Amino acid sequence: VPAERIVEMTAVLTGSATSVALDGVVKDFGKTRVLHELSLEIRAGEFVSLLGPSGCGKSTALRLIAGLEDPTAGAIRMNGEDVTHLPTNRRDIGMVFQSYSLFPHLNALDNTRFGLDMRKVAKEQAKAMALESLELVGLGGLAERYPHELSGGQQQRVALARALVTSPKVLLLDEPLSALDARVRVQLREEIGRIQKELGITTIFVTHDQEEALAISDRVAVMHAGRIEQIGTPEELYLTPATPEVAAFVGLSSLLPAVVHGGTATIWGQLVPVVGGAPDGEYRAFVRPENVHVAGPGQSGAAATIETSVFLGSSRRTEARLESGEVVSLQHPADMRLERGASVRLVIEPAPVVVTAA
Ligand code: ADP
Ligand code: MG
Repeated sequence: VPAERIVEMTAVLTGSATSVALDGVVKDFGKTRVLHELSLEIRAGEFVSLLGPSGCGKSTALRLIAGLEDPTAGAIRMNGEDVTHLPTNRRDIGMVFQSYSLFPHLNALDNTRFGLDMRKVAKEQAKAMALESLELVGLGGLAERYPHELSGGQQQRVALARALVTSPKVLLLDEPLSALDARVRVQLREEIGRIQKELGITTIFVTHDQEEALAISDRVAVMHAGRIEQIGTPEELYLTPATPEVAAFVGLSSLLPAVVHGGTATIWGQLVPVVGGAPDGEYRAFVRPENVHVAGPGQSGAAATIETSVFLGSSRRTEARLESGEVVSLQHPADMRLERGASVRLVIEPAPVVVTAA
């Protein structure tokens, strides 16, 4: 049984998790169509990211799931129940946004218990639940602090505690890490992953940061211009991107001229399978840096000149310019040094590639 099925079954058995489905959801703002028949099924207990460039419709999709916007057409279901027209406060969701949305005049504890006080939970019980929620996000000792006495990362932890304190069925996160600096961002995303698995709560995470989405998600839905281009595990998206948009947005690639014949591309004389196939013709292929190598002695390949080489710790990333003028990225072991200006021959591995119009 795959791990995600176990998480899902556990969540269903403990009654704590909910599936979420979008079915042909359309959203127009005036005459502008922002979402085009979005369909998406998120399993109970699953962590799914909506990934795409700014303006592609991620927040709008999340706000529809939250009930903060009404869809123009289509349906939204939670555990199979139609919630399309249910108000936000009856959807049993917790939300965290990018900007710190804490009340500045309330301390961490009172910010956290806010949703419970609104629901008229008894005072002592609300306090105990809020403290437990703060404990969960690693802020047990800071309950008395006011927002201005907390770092950005700590404020987002309070926002998370506040979203979780009512034990919602679905957690919605809209770029909750993007205002934080790089180190805190990585720490907090790992923390969110841990908490999500611990609670088994169905989570939808919006981000424009592909590394973040790949690191944290069970599955990622890549969005482009109001459509889902592809949904899959991080590995599926990286290894078999369904469209040029996905190939370009997920991971780094060089675009190299390719000739396709009978479903196979020829790049630098090397035969390479084409993901999803393509009619015969001339294309450009997305080639990953780890699939480009310096040719060994006696091996032929494309002539190139080394331009830059950057040390990344366990590997190096090198840019080389072909005689045709194109720049190719390659990734190789750190102990292989390629000096600027050196002449090399490059070869590629026959790993499957995505192609786009030349
Ligand atoms: P993302 O979160 O991916 O950056 P959004 O969902 O915020 O994208 O926005 C998608 C598109 O919808 C953008 O072109 C944006 O300008 C437009 N949009 C979002 N909200 C509104 C609104 N309330 N009125 C009009 N246009 C909007
Ligand atoms: Mg947004």
